[in-house]
Amino acid sequence: MIPVEFDYERAESLDDAIARLAATGGEGKLLAGGHSLVPLMKLRLSEPSSLIDISRIAGLSGIREKDGKVEIGATTTHHEVQQSELLRRLCPVVPEAAGEIGDPQIRHKGTLGGSLAHADPSADMPAVVVALGAEVHIKGPGGWRAVAAEDFFQDLFTVDLGPDEIIAGVQFRPLRSAGYAKLHQRASHYAIVGVAAALDVEGGVVRSARVAVTGASTHAQRLPNVEELLAGRPANAESIAAAAAVAGDTLEDVNVDLHASEEYRRAMVKVFTRRALERAAAR
Ligand SMILES: Cc1cc2nc3c(=O)[nH]c(=O)nc-3n(C[C@H](O)[C@H](O)[C@H](O)COP(=O)(O)OP(=O)(O)OC[C@H]3O[C@@H](n4cnc5c(N)ncnc54)[C@H](O)[C@@H]3O)c2cc1C
Repeated sequence: MIPVEFDYERAESLDDAIARLAATGGEGKLLAGGHSLVPLMKLRLSEPSSLIDISRIAGLSGIREKDGKVEIGATTTHHEVQQSELLRRLCPVVPEAAGEIGDPQIRHKGTLGGSLAHADPSADMPAVVVALGAEVHIKGPGGWRAVAAEDFFQDLFTVDLGPDEIIAGVQFRPLRSAGYAKLHQRASHYAIVGVAAALDVEGGVVRSARVAVTGASTHAQRLPNVEELLAGRPANAESIAAAAAVAGDTLEDVNVDLHASEEYRRAMVKVFTRRALERAAAR
């Protein structure tokens, strides 16, 4: 289908984008990779009066170390994340998950910020940033604010982001012992179930764990019962199997669609939690 008519503007800087967005009075939309927004516009589920292209703003993309943390700019593409040597060395779960997104064309256009803002219930990166305890850095007319990723994702396609705000990037402490495992739809590669697990291990014992699931419910969220079972236990196959066995038991609003029933998704949450934990422990 053909979208309704709209204006196209290219923002020169973050502040320029904020000003342009405010000038649309809530009728405009940011355009990053366009891989979620444009399909919605073609279906006329989204009818912005104006698109503000942020994809070429200098400084809004890139991956760097900053104050002991890793920072990924919002317009960094999934391909750039997948290829990043810095991330492979410091936090390999991030490029691992990025490499699981869609296909090469999707990864060359789709951006981290677009993925987080859109918050598709089956998107991969939301689970990863929640498991890593990342902060989402946001700027709007009122200035800067940072939101913990686990609070950012609130409900189906619903995030803590005002219509006049822009995600500038995410920051997290690097961690090698984290893994991502995903059961994907054959056509789109979106997650039927995806699990990201991050373990803090000392002397072979799990000090703490953060495990987040995507694809299974309305939005990416932690699996607290799994995390509790792992804390203080040896990082071995037996503890992992015991923790994975309860994965998803507390999940509400489990997704049901043509790809999977509730029963199947619940079963797969356990399988993919075990795999993600095994990957994390192996690192
Ligand atoms: C066929 C297909 C297969 C896909 N498979 C997968 C998959 O397997 N896994 C997966 O996770 N994803 C998948 N995707 C999604 C894709 O990877 C993109 O991440 C996603 O489309 C959003 O990123 P984008 O840069 O294209 O955002 P856009 O489409 O440009 O924007 C999406 C929304 O976010 C807003 N937005 C964009 N950037 C910002 C920002 N910095 N601050 C605030 N708001 C912003 C826009 O206004 C819009 O509302 C797939 C997409 C397609 C079309």
